[in-house]
Amino acid sequence: MTASIIDGKAIAAKLSEETADAVKRLTAEHGVEPGLAVVLVGENPASEIYVRSKTAKTAATNMRSLLYKLPETVKAEELFELIDKLNTDPTVHGILVQLPLPPQIDSQRVIEAISPAKDVDGFHPLTAGLLSTGLPGIVPCTPLACIMLAKHVHGSLAGLEAVVIGRSNIVGKPLAQLLLMENATVTIAHSKTRDLPDVCRRADIDFAAVGRPEMVRGDWIKPGATVIDVGINRVPAEDGKSKLVGDVAFAEASQVAGAITPVPGGVGPMTIACLMLNTLKAACAQNGLEAPSISPS
Ligand code: NAP
Repeated sequence: MTASIIDGKAIAAKLSEETADAVKRLTAEHGVEPGLAVVLVGENPASEIYVRSKTAKTAATNMRSLLYKLPETVKAEELFELIDKLNTDPTVHGILVQLPLPPQIDSQRVIEAISPAKDVDGFHPLTAGLLSTGLPGIVPCTPLACIMLAKHVHGSLAGLEAVVIGRSNIVGKPLAQLLLMENATVTIAHSKTRDLPDVCRRADIDFAAVGRPEMVRGDWIKPGATVIDVGINRVPAEDGKSKLVGDVAFAEASQVAGAITPVPGGVGPMTIACLMLNTLKAACAQNGLEAPSISPS
């Protein structure tokens, strides 16, 4: 079997187009221009690339993009002052502080300092609590992207066996919550899981969010299953440069799976498109307006 490739780039482009149209309507009809503030601390090359593509996408989606660059040595209190200022600025509807942060800054404190109403990354404990109790709120971008990609293949996820490898607060746990809300039967695997290949072979859909290059092998996958690869790992390439690979051994897995996301070009672009959607929804909520219903499929 050769898997069909889930084209995250194309699906993200469709979602972004719909979001951009809805933003235009919001601005024309209600005078609200959604604004996303991105804070970058230091010069981590990967973070710089992520921030560049987020700010470019914000402008391309007809929203106001604000970028705050702080030096690596910034004092924690200066960052908190900036977050306070953005929290109370009515023209800013979403705030994103790019992680990781330098060691003098406590990332958890930063996550908790962002107003939950403007927490478009969806990392605040209150946001996580709303999600786990099934109450309406912002949904973290990467897990939302994974669900949209899985639904692009399956339509409904009800009754499907889903295995999520990874239990981080930003990907694995919220993804498992969303899968439950979609009525999938969910297993969360992690570094202490026994017989991980066997666990994965049960799944109709495998989600890999581990951060280990090509850990999931082809023979871990049930023939015909869907594979959503969240991992982004930079590894040495044959030409002496470097390349990006996922947490799944793509060449092997694509011989067994029914559908698979590539890396790059799968979950990554969808995550950014979901960030734009979250900013639009946050702007609507902060102005007492109903958010438009948008989905890429
Ligand atoms: P993380 O916080 O490091 O969590 C990794 C998870 O994988 C942990 O739960 C860990 O288990 C588990 N794990 C580690 N080694 C394992 C093993 N040998 N077997 C089974 N489970 C294992 O990572 P994260 O922030 O969730 O990110 C995961 C990956 O997704 C990374 O490659 C990251 O770059 C990528 N990512 C991509 C996007 C995107 O937009 N595409 C967004 C976010 C993250 P324990 O809990 O037991 O330690």
